[in-house]
Order: sequence, then C-alpha cells, then structure tokens
Amino acid sequence: MNLAELVKSYEGQMVEMLSKLVSIKAVNPRSGEGQSEWGRVKFLEPILKELGLETQVVVAEDPLVPEGRPNLLGILPGKDRSRTLWFIGHLDTVPVGDLKLWSHDPFDAYIHDGKIYGRGAEDNGQAVITSLFALRAIKEAGITPNVNIGLAFVADEETGSTYGINYLIQQKIFKPEDMAIVPDSGDSEGSFIEVAEKSMMWLKFKVIGKQVHASMPTLGINAHKVGMMFALAVDEALHDNYADRDQLFEPPFSTFEITKKEANVENINTIPGTDVFYMDMRVLPEHDLDDILELIDELRTTFEYEYKVKIEMEVVQRGDAPAPTDPNHPLVRTLAQVIEEYRNIKPKVGGIGGGTCAAPLRKVGIPAVVWGTIDETAHQPDEYAKIENLTKDAIVFAEIMRRIE
Ligand SMILES: [Zn+2]
Repeated sequence: MNLAELVKSYEGQMVEMLSKLVSIKAVNPRSGEGQSEWGRVKFLEPILKELGLETQVVVAEDPLVPEGRPNLLGILPGKDRSRTLWFIGHLDTVPVGDLKLWSHDPFDAYIHDGKIYGRGAEDNGQAVITSLFALRAIKEAGITPNVNIGLAFVADEETGSTYGINYLIQQKIFKPEDMAIVPDSGDSEGSFIEVAEKSMMWLKFKVIGKQVHASMPTLGINAHKVGMMFALAVDEALHDNYADRDQLFEPPFSTFEITKKEANVENINTIPGTDVFYMDMRVLPEHDLDDILELIDELRTTFEYEYKVKIEMEVVQRGDAPAPTDPNHPLVRTLAQVIEEYRNIKPKVGGIGGGTCAAPLRKVGIPAVVWGTIDETAHQPDEYAKIENLTKDAIVFAEIMRRIE
C-alpha cells in the first residue's frame, strides 16, 4: 500500500479517535469554566507510545490549576537527528457558549452527513488526529524520514499560550533549525498557506468631560460629543498615515476600526460626563505599533487642550507581528507542491489576521506555516470537522513527512 492508501484505511479509526477526543472535555480553565488538558494527554500519550514515539509531557505551572498545564510531545527520529519538523495541535477548546444554539450535546460527538460535530472537533481536534495518523502511516510504511518528525499537542492556545507554546519555547524544546506546521486555520479547499500575520492592537479610550442637564450645555462638557469627534479624528489620522498596501495579506492593507461603545447616561436629557469607546487594529508587520501609539497621543493632547476634557487610553491587547516565514522556504515549497499534486489546486501563500501558535515560533526564528482544510466553524455552535478532510489532510501531512529535507 502506498501512503495515501494507508491513510485512507485509517478513516474509521480517525473518526473514532476524534469522537473520543471531543468527549474528553478540555475547555481552557482560563476561559472561566474549564478542566485543563490533562484528560486528553492521558488518553493520547499511550497512543503515541504504542506508535513507538519518544514521548514527553512538559508541565507548565499555572496558579489556577493545581496539577499544572500539560503539553504532550512525541518524536519519531529521522536520519538527521539534529532537526525536527513539528506538527503543532492545541488540546484546549473554547467554552460551548450558548448551549441552546447547539443541535446536539457538544461533548458527545454527533456524526451526520460526513461531519463530526462537537466542541473542538475542528479547533483543534482535526490537527491532532490528522498529524497523528499521518505519522502512523509513515511508521507502518517503514519510512525513516530525513529529519525528526515531532508532534506537539499543546495547552492553553485559546487564552494566550502562556502555558502552551510559549512555555515550550521558554523551555528550549524547539531548535532554530526546526520547522513547524500549524493546522489551525485554513479554508474549505485547503488552498491557503499562511506564512505571515499582521500585528494587532485593541485600545480603550475614556473621554472625561462634565455631566450636566441637557438644557444647560454651557455649564458642562459633552464627553460623548468630544468622544465622537476624537474617534473620527483618530480613525482618519491612522487611515491617512498607514495607507500602504502589501499583497501578501488579505485584505492587503492595515485595518483600523472603531468598535465597541460603552453605554453612558440612562436618560435623554443628561449630557454625558464620560464616554468610552474601543478600537481594533490589524497592522501590516512593517509598521511599529509604538509609532501608532505616538500618533494617537499627539491627537489626544490636542483634543485635551482644545475641548478641556481628559482622555485616558489603555492598551487592552497587543501582539506585535513577527517577521513572516519566507514564502520560498523549502517547508512552504514542499507543502505547496504536495497540495498541488493531491488536490489539483495551486495554493495561495500569504498572510491573514493571525493569532495561532505559528506567531511565537516565527518570533524565535522558526519557520512556521499554518494550513488546514476546514470550513472555519471554530468557536461556533455546531462546530464540526469533515471526515473527508481528516483523510485528505492526513495524506498531505504524511507526504510532507516523507519528503521534507
Ligand atoms: Zn485553534
């Protein structure tokens, strides 16, 4: 049997194992109601051992979870033992959200119409199952890969990866010569290889004026009115100053959006004394977020002086994008070639909003690509993984494990 046929022969077992994984709850404990990833690690470690992998559980101390947060590693040694191609899957999931929106129990995998429904089936169970069975095919075909093949099933991806990929990086699990595939984003055709991402920043603004009766505006300072003007001024300044384009990205420019608005006064006849609004920005990696903050600061000073308000600004979240993985790196080229051969499509190589385990790896100089064939149902009710995609992606991964140099 060739690799593809071997993988196809596993389909039933892949479905069974993904269903089992869904039933072992691993909601991220930092998202309010979670269990940690231990149940899944205890289920998966013996399976990796049985495959003949060298396994290791790296536990990160988490003050919220007495037993710590487990990261499971499994390695198949290659001809060259100094380098490893890693497949990164995350074990934690987001909460179910509104249970009423689910057609079935989110933790009791439901199979219908070629799909496996359940929380975490796609995000990120599919990655765990496809990489695991790809490696099994390599093992059973008696292939010794050119480099080590590593499986890293990590914790804590959904709330910032402090106890997951970032902890593993701190512990020097990865070497600069290593490479990584992160099957945690993609499209329905598997036609997009992500090698880059934008920086992201969330800002909160609080404009403080003076609350008074609406009939006596001269006695107060309308924070809502100044807030609106200020928001539009910031919006305009950012769009004017950061209008350049980079075709690697979709959309090919930085985005700056005024988003959330907090409620102010309850009655119509009161001039609000405070105004709170938020912005979401996704910035091309060549720009420094500090320059953006400086530009906003200048506007803030102008508005404070001109309208006699106080404007407080808080960085709610910030992620500075690492340099992109070279689109011509052998890892990207091999992946693109395998996809072309098996899918008859020419994948697009580019960047998106970002936010996967690939970013921290790129930050320490490890080439990382994000790829998978998914309908993007992550975090939604009735999240699912397509059975056909399990097989198709596992074939691609097995082929890469065989070819990578
Ligand atoms: Zn994910």
